Amino acid sequence: MSPRLPAAVEIVEVGPRDGLQNEPTVLPIAAKVDFIERALAAGIRRVEVASFVSPRRVPAMADAEGVLAGLSKRPGVHYVGLVLNRRGFDRALAAGCSEIGMAVFATDTFNERNQGATTAASIAAWLEIAAAAHAAGIRPQITVSAAFGCPFEGEVAAARVVDIATRVAAGRPVEIALADTIGVGVPSQVTELIGRVREALPGMPVRCHFHNTRNTGLANAYAAVAAGAVALDASIGGIGGCPFAPAATGNIPTEDLVYMLARMGIATGIDLEALLGTSRWLQEQLGRPVPGALVKAGSFPGARAVA
Ligand code: ZN
Repeated sequence: MSPRLPAAVEIVEVGPRDGLQNEPTVLPIAAKVDFIERALAAGIRRVEVASFVSPRRVPAMADAEGVLAGLSKRPGVHYVGLVLNRRGFDRALAAGCSEIGMAVFATDTFNERNQGATTAASIAAWLEIAAAAHAAGIRPQITVSAAFGCPFEGEVAAARVVDIATRVAAGRPVEIALADTIGVGVPSQVTELIGRVREALPGMPVRCHFHNTRNTGLANAYAAVAAGAVALDASIGGIGGCPFAPAATGNIPTEDLVYMLARMGIATGIDLEALLGTSRWLQEQLGRPVPGALVKAGSFPGARAVA
């Protein structure tokens, strides 16, 4: 029996942050703003625009405030700022983000490497930040990173991810994201993990974040949608990587994902041709081909009618 598929799925464009952060070419502010404007023109309504972290740690994101300053507020559009601590939250709020995202890693080793704290300490920080976001009238969301496997600790037990999801849910996020940070997940694992998180947290929307490192990204995206994920992260062109996993490739390419969903009859509200144009533009900006498949192969007539 084929799974019941939703009529629509929300796409969160993470190219300007997760993508560009891990590219060797650092784009100037004007090009980053242009990138975001192009994504919005294609119909994307949530964009992860920058991370508000120490510029010493992530030099490519040192201009986060400058990027936000270049964007105009639009109704129905959310500019997401990634934060790791209260200081980052205060910066994202001051810069005008309408949504903040935070990540906690499913293993202590990865969390220590990324955030210099245990997973439990980062969960405590998240709960404080989430409360501050609610008080400020902006949307908090949380990602459980390395939920499908860790480069340091190996396999991650589903029970551990469910336990973390349950604890971060106390911050009343708009959704909980499960991230395959290093691209090791497979569809059966996606089905199981989403099923267990949804069982533990009825009514909590689940988003997924996949990297295509081992070419399972789109298969995982299909499994996620079939298992009830309501939103997926993707990056135009599939740009990006992971500084902790040298061989890691980028996120699933937004245009490849939108193509697949459109031909399956799942609406995203995104104009595929506009995405392809942006992907080609991005290749020029980065001075190299992007990993996505559709930008090389082109679309197919059946995918044009996107609602
Ligand atoms: Zn990522």
